[in-house]
Amino acid sequence: MNIIFIAPPAAGKGTVSALLEERKGYIHLSTGDLLRAEIKKGTEFGNEINDIISKGELVSDEIITKLLKNKLATIKNQKFILDGYPRNLNQAETLNEIFNELAITDYMAIYLSIDEETAMKRALGRLVCSDCGATYNKYFQETKPKKDGICDKCQGPLNQRADDNEETFKVRFNTYLNVTNPLIDYYKEKGKLEIVDTTNGSENSYQLIEQILESENVNN
Ligand code: AMP
Repeated sequence: MNIIFIAPPAAGKGTVSALLEERKGYIHLSTGDLLRAEIKKGTEFGNEINDIISKGELVSDEIITKLLKNKLATIKNQKFILDGYPRNLNQAETLNEIFNELAITDYMAIYLSIDEETAMKRALGRLVCSDCGATYNKYFQETKPKKDGICDKCQGPLNQRADDNEETFKVRFNTYLNVTNPLIDYYKEKGKLEIVDTTNGSENSYQLIEQILESENVNN
């Protein structure tokens, strides 16, 4: 069963995806990570993307769809998680076409719900390893790094994402409400929606998702 995550910023889709990757062998496709990899290259294209992300706005559908299609073409017969795509109704329609072309029918959209205040706290406390991409949170015991500023997994340096500040977070959250939230009804109407409350942290979210996957396997 492939998974599409629909979630407000900092709901924990990256952290839960990493758990599904580690424990269930999912391929984790994060469009945010694909964009950040372009920014790291320091090209003109990367700089343009950086300007957009820093403002909390969405990158154009053309750019993001091209990056995603290139990445999807590299995975064969492996189950995957889409973390961050689709982000609006146009992208959802495009994804339908891509799935039709690739004959992918086995998928579920999971809405990771969170209230704005908790999401903001998560965003402001988030730390990401610059070397391996592992994510931590300085405000939550469950996901704090063992040593301040150092990755538990590879000892790389931990940094804050440039868009994890209060001002940009508010824009990102509003963008989510205006253009991404309608995807919940879109997938509900297709009979492809599950809802997971992420308030109790990533381990709890993982367990709720595991139950969903198990019941889907039983029913199919
Ligand atoms: P994320 O890592 O999912 O929080 O994404 C970080 C930023 O990357 C977002 O705030 C957007 O600016 C951009 N982004 C990621 N995925 C998409 C997408 N599917 N469409 C447009 N912009 C995206």
